[in-house]
Amino acid sequence: MPQLKLLHIGGAITDEHLREIASLSGLKTLNLSRSQVSDAGLKELARLENLRLLRLSSSKVTEEGMGAIAELRSLRGLHLVGIPITDKGIDTLGRMTWLESFYLDGGTASDDSLYRLIKAIPGLHFHRDQLHLPNDPNADH
Ligand SMILES: [Zn+2]
Repeated sequence: MPQLKLLHIGGAITDEHLREIASLSGLKTLNLSRSQVSDAGLKELARLENLRLLRLSSSKVTEEGMGAIAELRSLRGLHLVGIPITDKGIDTLGRMTWLESFYLDGGTASDDSLYRLIKAIPGLHFHRDQLHLPNDPNADH
């Protein structure tokens, strides 16, 4: 299915499923709600060279998985829901200077790390739990 551009899967997606999804080379939007994906599965996403939007929900992803996401050069929008992300993971995502929007719901990242992130990625449209950070220079976008 090389023509498939958008995939929204709201079930118990595992790393094994993700391996198959990663062969859909034309995929631009991937929405994995309530998934069971782990770091190993996220490494498969490197094959999706056209992926622009990723929405991911999984409690099994760690810092290592953030490293895999931070390699996704085509990504412009990232939405993480219920990922146990820490300051270290946020700092890793700060390498993604090509990212335009990042919505974070959940996790234990500190305010300090989030301010570092919006400094590291100029112009980033950032929400934590659906809100802008106070004093975010991009808050009106
Ligand atoms: Zn906003």
